[in-house]
Amino acid sequence: MTNIIDEQKIFNTLDKHQQPDRILVQEILSKASELGGLSAEDVATLIAIDSEELLLEVFHTAKKVKEAIYGNRLVIFAPLYASNTCTNNCLYCAFRTDNKELKRRTLSQTEIAEETKLLIDQGQKRIVLLTGEAHDHDNFQYILDSIATIYATKSGAGKICRVNTNIAPYTVENFRRLKAANIGTYQLFQETYHRDTYQKMHAAGKKADYDWHITAMDRAMTAGIDDVGIGALFGLANWHFEILALLQHIAHLNQEFGIGPHTISVPRLEPASGSNIASSPPYLVSDQDFCKIIAILRLAVPYTGIILSTRESVALRRQCFELGVSQISAGSRTSPGGYSESKDKFNASQFSVGDCRNLDEVVKDIVSLGFMPSFCTACYRLGRTGESFMELAKTGKIKNMCTPNAIVTFKEYLLHYASPDTRDAGEKLIAKELAASSEQQKQLTLKLIAQLEEGTQEAYI
Ligand code: SAM
Ligand code: SF4
Repeated sequence: MTNIIDEQKIFNTLDKHQQPDRILVQEILSKASELGGLSAEDVATLIAIDSEELLLEVFHTAKKVKEAIYGNRLVIFAPLYASNTCTNNCLYCAFRTDNKELKRRTLSQTEIAEETKLLIDQGQKRIVLLTGEAHDHDNFQYILDSIATIYATKSGAGKICRVNTNIAPYTVENFRRLKAANIGTYQLFQETYHRDTYQKMHAAGKKADYDWHITAMDRAMTAGIDDVGIGALFGLANWHFEILALLQHIAHLNQEFGIGPHTISVPRLEPASGSNIASSPPYLVSDQDFCKIIAILRLAVPYTGIILSTRESVALRRQCFELGVSQISAGSRTSPGGYSESKDKFNASQFSVGDCRNLDEVVKDIVSLGFMPSFCTACYRLGRTGESFMELAKTGKIKNMCTPNAIVTFKEYLLHYASPDTRDAGEKLIAKELAASSEQQKQLTLKLIAQLEEGTQEAYI
């Protein structure tokens, strides 16, 4: 049995920190403002806050930390569901093997290319490839083929530059093959770190093995994949517990590999076909608590990306952008073939989506809120991953690259994919951003924009 998570220690820490006073909270927030992260004790104190006034201070500090590290950038991506067949039986998921209501579908490579082309034509550059879990050799080869298909698909001058995955946990040997296939981030959510709850939710299939699941990142990193993404599915167990467990998982990876995860995802349970658990979560997380989760994570691990999906409503997503989210999906479909079908006529989706807008609508909205959508994949393409990325991020140097790259990739989006209204709003935002840049950054960005307008595909630094 692995000891990555020490449950008793988590419960003891949570018990010790009830009803924190204002002075202690303010000390913790001023420590967080120095961007060095927070201890489990500090985090437990913030979790215990129940005064509205102190909570607003937490939100305010999270916003400052987010701005200091990420500026106003929001990285955009889309999911591509290749298959909804699954040998597991996770009680909350529509893809579980017992769900006979669901129409099963596995896309052919031609269909994957068609879906990819549709995403490229929207202006996407990053995809996360998702599948249910099936555990035979062919399934793994299917994953490798799908990644190759996505990278090989072109439409006009557009292509997908980074394929992240959210698929099964594999052996070290298969993770080596995934790395050789050039995946970006390998994502896998522990769902719940609480062992008993995990066992209840995953009674059958390979996923029933908690230890195999939680050690996936160790195997991925051993195989040389240095951008990994973790997450918990909020609603299955008490979120206070999950936050401290996420931090223990991060501490474990730091200790073993000298680096933590590249991203944390914060999926919250959504209704899913035929699942009672998904419709009435055992530990419902309110919208306010969801915001608190994001703000606390931003303060605790300031350099780790936080990913927000379209599970959440438009209004809540808008709030979360301010609190520390750095990457968002947009225009998502959660069924295989979902971009080619006008609606889910196969009843094949994984869960209901809260933000149903298309990419252009999301981009326009983000711009109206003052955020700069970024389609940048430069770090991955230039090998700035894992430790070398964190080194640049922690010394503040990454910002000098991210800001010009975000502007240039957004400019490319505006030139080729945006609606006239979005283009107008976007051009104004770019002008404002350039006016606020240093002369050196401004010249560099203008040079990259000129290269882009001349047709250079690799205009980034
Ligand atoms: N099959 C792989 C797995 O389970 O890790 C990866 C893909 S699965 C399609 C991606 C994630 O969707 C799961 O890890 C789970 O957290 C999330 N998910 C499943 N059912 C959900 C639901 N009803 N509401 C929100 N998220 C859900
Ligand atoms: Fe299968 Fe993943 Fe859904 Fe579980 S969460 S049933 S493993 S697709």
